[in-house]
Amino acid sequence: FGGKQDTKEIDGKNMLRNMEASLTARDRVGIQDFVLLDAYMSESAFLDNLRKRFHENLIYTYIGTLLVSVNPYKELNIYNKKQMDTYMGVNFFELPPHIYALADNVFRTMLSEFNNHFILISGESGAGKTEASKKILQFYAVSCPSTKLLNNVRDRLLLSNPVLEAFGNAKTLKNDNSSRFGKYMDIQFDHQGGAVGGHILSYLLEKSRVVHQNHGERNFHIFYQLVEGGEEELLRWLGLERNCQNYSYLVQGDCAKVSSINDKSDWRTVRGALSVIHFSESDIEDLFGIIASVLHLGNIKLNTSTCHFLMETSRRLVFACVLKQGLTHRKIEAKTEEVLSPFSVDHAVYARDALAKAIYGRTFNWLVNKINESLDFSRKTVIGLLDIYGFEVFYVNSFEQFCINYCNEKLQQLFIQLTLKSEQEEYEMEGIEWEPVPFFNNKIICDLVEEKHRGMISLLDEECLRPGEATDLTFLEKLEETIGGHPHFVTHKLADIKTRKTLDRGDFRLLHYAGEVTYCVVGFLDKNNDLLYRNGKEVMRQSKNAIIKHCFPSSEPDSKKRPETVVTQFKSSLVGLTEILMSKEPWYVRCIKPNDAKQPGRFDDVLVRHQVKYLGLMEHLRVRRAGFAYRRKYEIFLQRYKALCPDTWPHWKGTAAEGVRCLIQHLGYKPDEYKMGRTKIFIRHPRTLFATEDTFQV
Ligand code: ATP
Ligand code: MG
Repeated sequence: FGGKQDTKEIDGKNMLRNMEASLTARDRVGIQDFVLLDAYMSESAFLDNLRKRFHENLIYTYIGTLLVSVNPYKELNIYNKKQMDTYMGVNFFELPPHIYALADNVFRTMLSEFNNHFILISGESGAGKTEASKKILQFYAVSCPSTKLLNNVRDRLLLSNPVLEAFGNAKTLKNDNSSRFGKYMDIQFDHQGGAVGGHILSYLLEKSRVVHQNHGERNFHIFYQLVEGGEEELLRWLGLERNCQNYSYLVQGDCAKVSSINDKSDWRTVRGALSVIHFSESDIEDLFGIIASVLHLGNIKLNTSTCHFLMETSRRLVFACVLKQGLTHRKIEAKTEEVLSPFSVDHAVYARDALAKAIYGRTFNWLVNKINESLDFSRKTVIGLLDIYGFEVFYVNSFEQFCINYCNEKLQQLFIQLTLKSEQEEYEMEGIEWEPVPFFNNKIICDLVEEKHRGMISLLDEECLRPGEATDLTFLEKLEETIGGHPHFVTHKLADIKTRKTLDRGDFRLLHYAGEVTYCVVGFLDKNNDLLYRNGKEVMRQSKNAIIKHCFPSSEPDSKKRPETVVTQFKSSLVGLTEILMSKEPWYVRCIKPNDAKQPGRFDDVLVRHQVKYLGLMEHLRVRRAGFAYRRKYEIFLQRYKALCPDTWPHWKGTAAEGVRCLIQHLGYKPDEYKMGRTKIFIRHPRTLFATEDTFQV
């Protein structure tokens, strides 16, 4: 956003030619950069432009250097080596908008300025974030200078995707390949621009999916891939049958088969990828031993009178018979001895599911670490890619949606801070005359969730500290007492007044930046506590499986010290993420979902308009249009262009600001093309600078 042009590469004439061409073709294909339109653009005109382009299969449009992408829900022939070559090394505005153009622009800016960048990809569930991040990664892997040695890293970088998607994505009602974890990936480059390594950070996997799926949803892909695609011998060895219907953890959503997903061929991809990413045969055996064990665990029947235990285990599986005791009894520490107390059936089911979630969650973390080991990271110049679960609203929303939507609030806040807010503050600081552009600042919602003591997270944690006394409903009461008057919080008592829609007793509603979400409070305390009974852990420690041994180390402190709750850990990891991002130069891809039916060719005006609104695209456009595309400190600007003016070359004696004034007078800048701030020169259009660069090169 501003100040990003790699001036060395700019060919102003081409750009102007391209702009003209785009204006002539405008009636048919719309405008490729909203900023190029001189007239004030209304929301409807904005929408018309997006729609027009969408129907011409032109899914990308710029707002300056921000890329808007509308999910086509069909394969377009625009992602191939030929297109990559077309975009590689060509100035951003010279060719039609493309995700490759953005990737290339970030790449060349990084190489010329030797600094770190990140690309924030946002949009609601199903809008195309993960696809966008994959296209960017492919562009770097394929187009950047490479050597034989680097090819290995490149392959591993690329293949980390299908593996992580298999274990971390699932079919939801919104998206057949929905990310159920947040992913931040640094791609590391050497001075020649070769992709030499990478590092992945993962955020809060939705573990509850392992044991429960809502109707129309699935468990994580990997389970179905193994059962459908696993070789006969492997399945026999794991004690599995080739039928998803036989596994209780796979059929709760009643949609084990999905027409858009080919589990068999995905299995082959994942299996092949694991070998390339340095997974040894024994790692792979252990890994699938765990996946199979989770399925067996889900099939354990626990009935009222005996809590009896039906599990055919193959010798190789994670669990030994001790598991029986681990699941049916609880170890309680009395004063001098440990006592085994039998569980009720509900408790036993709870303990079983808790164990399955813990095993899967920890294995996922192990997997991310293992991939990282193979990616050779040493801190050089990086481009970070952020692809996180998008904002989501289901018929029933629970703790998971609360965390996911909170995360999206935080990212929206970051976007606001880095663009709308800081941009306008900079004009003010620099004394540039400026008509402020009003925008909705979602900080109020972030505060509502995360404020110390009074925020929802604090209140939830407080209730989690009162075991035996607190329940989900006392948590709800506490919310009502403490934040009942907040304009973005609605309880059933106030529902009619605030939103004119009634609410059930166990629900609360948040008015998020992206829309209203009604949350059902049931399960909040449990999920936030994420308790794993002690003897569950002990059983795991006896496992011979190397991954399980690693994930349940005997040095792990037992329940005496209270572990941080799930939401508090998540909050801290998001604070960490924000710090990582703030230290880098930002770029943005805003993804839009054109319809709820996942269908090509359908552009639902109401749905898109809503997204354009909450993504802040109009405000972004206004700031961008009224503002200045390029700005540089006087010293840097003078240093670069002083040779263009006899008065400033070779040495300028006065202040840098005076030097710049002299220089641009000589170059004939018109008064409306630039502004002089306190420490920087601001240039309205990139074309002014392109012309200067042209003079420079002549
Ligand atoms: P979530 O927040 O649920 O993870 P997401 O924003 O990551 O959602 P994607 O998984 O990237 O959404 O996209 C959903 C689906 O839309 C893809 O599986 C694919 O079928 C289709 N899709 C998205 N982008 C494109 C594209 N550029 N070209 C073709 N199809 C696309
Ligand atoms: Mg995704």
